Amino acid sequence: MLTDYHLHLRPDDVDASAAEHFTSANAERYRAAASERGIAELGASEHVYRFVQALDVWRHPFWERYAHDDLDDYCRFVREETDLRLGIEADFVPGAEDRLANVLEARDFDYVVGSVHFLREGAVDMDDYSVWSSGRSAEEIWRRYFETVGESARSGLFDILAHPDLVKYWGPHPPNGRPLPSGDLRRYYELAIDGIAESGIAVEVSTAGLRKRAGEIYPAPAFLEMCLEAGAPVALSSDAHRPQDVGADYEQALELLERLGVGELSVFDRRTRRLKPIGALAGSPGGEPQ
Ligand SMILES: [Zn+2]
Ligand SMILES: [Zn+2]
Repeated sequence: MLTDYHLHLRPDDVDASAAEHFTSANAERYRAAASERGIAELGASEHVYRFVQALDVWRHPFWERYAHDDLDDYCRFVREETDLRLGIEADFVPGAEDRLANVLEARDFDYVVGSVHFLREGAVDMDDYSVWSSGRSAEEIWRRYFETVGESARSGLFDILAHPDLVKYWGPHPPNGRPLPSGDLRRYYELAIDGIAESGIAVEVSTAGLRKRAGEIYPAPAFLEMCLEAGAPVALSSDAHRPQDVGADYEQALELLERLGVGELSVFDRRTRRLKPIGALAGSPGGEPQ
């Protein structure tokens, strides 16, 4: 069995409307792409900040620009007009845990993908509001990023820890042009591990990093190894924003998981997790779709 739970039904453009993309025909395109690759477990996880209810949690100017749609309409659409699992990608906003819990608990999600895109006001993976232009050193940004990832896990708000080392998004040349931390990066990963271990959160292996300047799977193998040693289960996703990226580069993700001895993936139903044996990709040696 294979999963792709971190899926967006539209690109990140502000004018990619719900009316145009939250349709059964569009969901069907994702399902068809998944079936072709032998991926049976599929779910939608739209960004929480695209819904007006997110403004009860945080009023960052970026969120105010994007919060157009109604969250309950989205939930109804996924449940009633698609055969996808109902998920959401929610940002961790320190200090707003109770407000986010209210938004999440009022809906019957199958799972919540928890992300750290912002360190306070600054984004790690966007040109706008960039944390990289804050004058902080790369070391400080990396330290704060992994501390926040640990806090996000410990908050208990999330089932899946998204793109766990997103801070490497820009690859070797982040926008402020300062050198990245070098050497053994486990000194940073270490800052997130206690929170991950204590929470029991599933750690996402995401092929999205391969499509960004990072050019690597999230998380780095050494970080994933530490998560596994801490007992974390794995969730596998592509973070696709269009049907043709569903299951993108899963060959590489499956190779990594096999190398590290991971034999099971997390599946979710109404926020209950089970582990299922990893299946083969369609068309790969020894593999029929499962
Ligand atoms: Zn994300
Ligand atoms: Zn995403």
